[in-house]
Amino acid sequence: MSSKALEQFLRDNIADLKNRGLYNEIDTVEGANGPEIQIGGRKLINLSSNNYLGLATNDTLKVVSKEAIDTHGVGAGAVRTINGTLDLHQKLEEKIAAFKGTEAAISYQSGFNCNMAAISAVMNKDDAILSDALNHASIIDGCRLSRAKIIRYKHSDMNDLRKQAKEAVESGKYNKIMVITDGVFSMDGDIAKLPEIVEIAEELDLITYVDDAHGSGVLGNGAGTVKHFGLQDKVDLQMGTLSKAIGVVGGYVAGKQNLIDWLKVASRPFLFSTAVTPADAAASTKAIELLMESNELVEKLWENGAYLKAELKKLGFDIGNSETPITPVIIGEEKVTQEFSKRLFESGVYAKSIVFPTVPRGTGRVRNMPTAAHTKEMLDEAIEVYKRIGKEMGMIE
Ligand code: PMP
Repeated sequence: MSSKALEQFLRDNIADLKNRGLYNEIDTVEGANGPEIQIGGRKLINLSSNNYLGLATNDTLKVVSKEAIDTHGVGAGAVRTINGTLDLHQKLEEKIAAFKGTEAAISYQSGFNCNMAAISAVMNKDDAILSDALNHASIIDGCRLSRAKIIRYKHSDMNDLRKQAKEAVESGKYNKIMVITDGVFSMDGDIAKLPEIVEIAEELDLITYVDDAHGSGVLGNGAGTVKHFGLQDKVDLQMGTLSKAIGVVGGYVAGKQNLIDWLKVASRPFLFSTAVTPADAAASTKAIELLMESNELVEKLWENGAYLKAELKKLGFDIGNSETPITPVIIGEEKVTQEFSKRLFESGVYAKSIVFPTVPRGTGRVRNMPTAAHTKEMLDEAIEVYKRIGKEMGMIE
């Protein structure tokens, strides 16, 4: 038997999303998520994954994962605080701390989980959080979970941040105050103004939290946005994911030993949810080692990003103001954006449209994520398709 109220709720809400053109049909990738993918039997150049360095299909990491399965099995067996902390998790956390230049680190099952866990373990109802208006959904949810007062400041607007932070401090209403930001904003590819954020934080004694999901493996020779600006000693919580440039799955926070000690006793997903598998932990550790040993993949990523951006710009597309390899092609109207992406797909290029509510109304875009694994031939083929469809749809001359 099923609840009538539930049936009504599901019917109404799904119909509503469909009516508004917001119901997302999910594509299934048949095989690996590399620079080329197959969907519905069709081979496509993949410009939509976060596999920035191509590590999700790296041969060395495959070997290391298989070895970890042989030695440790397929599951961690328990939550971390009972006996699910394997030596492989320990090694991973030591490696993350070395990679980020901090005293210690803690890992979680995903980046999303990590933001929910860490923000709510550090902040509570007596506190306030200043959050960039374009911060990721997992930050928003983590802030809500903490029950702290959430104060949104205009995207990367340092005057607004300073003004609102001062007001919060002067109100005397809050115990701790945090400023939280994405390191790299994934919809536009712009970088947070961390030097200014840190300056304001020092002036007003704010806690600093950077979600570097899109900066790690990309900026600062791979070590991330904080390293890019040389601010390792100035950011309290460096959060990151193991699912994008690192190519595996999981999330982490790096910081001072006492912070990590606290997260290990107070962050609920660490206490109550089983740890990542041995294969995941071993592959992530090895991926970080590869990154620390060589900058080659990071350089290739930037080379490919620069090439794609330059060529699309030359063709006359609006590629926004990205400061990273993320390459949005801003189209505007939602329906036109979706049509453009569909036509790219039909011509062998997978570049997903991103429209309201993920980005503001009227700023629909097709977002391209070039990676270190793309060859020049693949990018050239994609650029040719862009050129043809852009002309057919009257977007470029
Ligand atoms: N933070 C940001 C800024 C992200 O873009 C994402 C992934 N979309 C996450 C956190 C969540 O990371 P994960 O996919 O590892 O859960």
